[in-house]
Amino acid sequence: MSTAKLTRADWQARAAALNFRGQAFIDGRYTDAVSGETFACINPANGRTLTQIAACDAPDADLSTAAARRVFEAGSWSRMPPRERKAIMIRFADLLDAHVDELALLETLDMGKPISDSTTIDIPGAARCLRHYGEAIDKVYDEIAPTADSALGLITREPVGVVAAIVPWNFPILMATWKIAPALAAGNSVILKPSEKAPLTAIRVAELALEAGLPAGVFNVLPGYGHTVGKALALHADVDCIAFTGSTAVGKLIMQYAGQSNLKRCWLECGGKTPNIVFADAPDLDAAAEAAAFAIFFNQGEMCTAGSRLLVEASIKDIFLDKVVAAGERMPPGDPLDPATRVGAIVDDLQLDRVLGYIEAGKQAGATVRLGGGRMFTESGGYFVAPTIFDNVRNDMPIAQEEIFGPVLSTLAFEDEEEAVRLANDTPYGLAAAVWTSNISRGHRLARRLRAGTVWVNCFDEGDLTVPFGGFKQSGNGRDKSLHALDKYTELKTTWIDLTR
Ligand code: NAD
Repeated sequence: MSTAKLTRADWQARAAALNFRGQAFIDGRYTDAVSGETFACINPANGRTLTQIAACDAPDADLSTAAARRVFEAGSWSRMPPRERKAIMIRFADLLDAHVDELALLETLDMGKPISDSTTIDIPGAARCLRHYGEAIDKVYDEIAPTADSALGLITREPVGVVAAIVPWNFPILMATWKIAPALAAGNSVILKPSEKAPLTAIRVAELALEAGLPAGVFNVLPGYGHTVGKALALHADVDCIAFTGSTAVGKLIMQYAGQSNLKRCWLECGGKTPNIVFADAPDLDAAAEAAAFAIFFNQGEMCTAGSRLLVEASIKDIFLDKVVAAGERMPPGDPLDPATRVGAIVDDLQLDRVLGYIEAGKQAGATVRLGGGRMFTESGGYFVAPTIFDNVRNDMPIAQEEIFGPVLSTLAFEDEEEAVRLANDTPYGLAAAVWTSNISRGHRLARRLRAGTVWVNCFDEGDLTVPFGGFKQSGNGRDKSLHALDKYTELKTTWIDLTR
């Protein structure tokens, strides 16, 4: 039966029949952690344990790094002709597509997102990403410098070596492929450290990589906690590059670990506090309101780009907010396995407490709750939060400044363009921003003045593999996606040849 036609009961039956694998994948085979330790993997929709996961640590980092280095030096992948690497990457992508329902189910059970999203966004998006870089890699050329006639200056790219990708749980396999696809395509060996909160798809995908033809040791998966195996990888003398997506606080630690060890390259995709700016002359206020609700409630608000700060021109603030509240009411949380559900469960009890803590802080600070404001379905044992909208938020309140990573929207009013820009830029983050206006000059003006890696004009969360994604300020450095991502996983080499002798 095609995935699109499956009912909630079908998904529940499939979930009950699933075999979960919780081991690490090192040098082409599944293995327990050296310590034998495990930790529980919990379904956030009901609080029940799905399986046990290998709790990898420094000895496992040593083993996987040794395997990754050995195969890198051997050249079976790193020096494979790009055309052949391409074929294997495309097979890898095809295998993800072939297993879309199984992988989507793992993703949904593991982190609580709606099955309709994991089947249509996460897994197809991950497959597309692998295919995109596979298809690209035999079409990128090196350069010859415009030197004097007496010399030849070759500028070539080489894979960096062993890349450790440390990723979060909100789009577990998609965030991973944004890193592993360009890194693998460029010829590197990769160690993927998924989040301890959502490791299941990464573990399963490892054997698909082997099946696709990646040589053993080229792609390894080390599940475990950040402060153990994540830290061990970031401090490891034989890891050449850390590609990190996660919080700004951990991103700062990663840079410190690099400085304390071998000065490995660190690419950081960190947090955000995206301003979504709506002017009274927005072309379609209803569409803008739908987008504003989607911007904060999609994926339970667990989005680095979540439009968590709604800045509205004062003259339309009240009528516009009514529309956003109505749109939010149309996105109630539900069972993630129900194909009709648009908002699922919060990833775990810790994140639930964090989100509820911010909601309480908003109330204490004097902001007005317009929608939601608390936990839902407690009797299910799951971690559900009602889509929550605050009005009368001041920009110095914690709910306006700090990343909540949950379905909580803060609304602020502004009088004019100057104030909108000032409020929008007044945060440590700079991942994304959005502007709604019919004035084309103003759209361009703001796109220039907003300090963010992506600015959307009259849309939100639009993007494509062809455009770079990443942050200004404390949202990080480097860029995922597009051909620019290849820069992160390659070293530039100059070869200077004297032509006079
Ligand atoms: P997190 O920083 O807690 O964890 C991210 C990863 O780092 C996990 O795999 C974790 O185990 C690991 N980690 C934690 N401590 C570590 C340490 N001391 N050393 C090495 N690794 C360590 O973030 P999270 O809660 O998993 O994800 C949410 C965050 O990710 C949010 O801040 C969100 O904005 C950000 N994010 C950013 C982007 C982006 O592209 N900019 C995309 C998605 C998520």
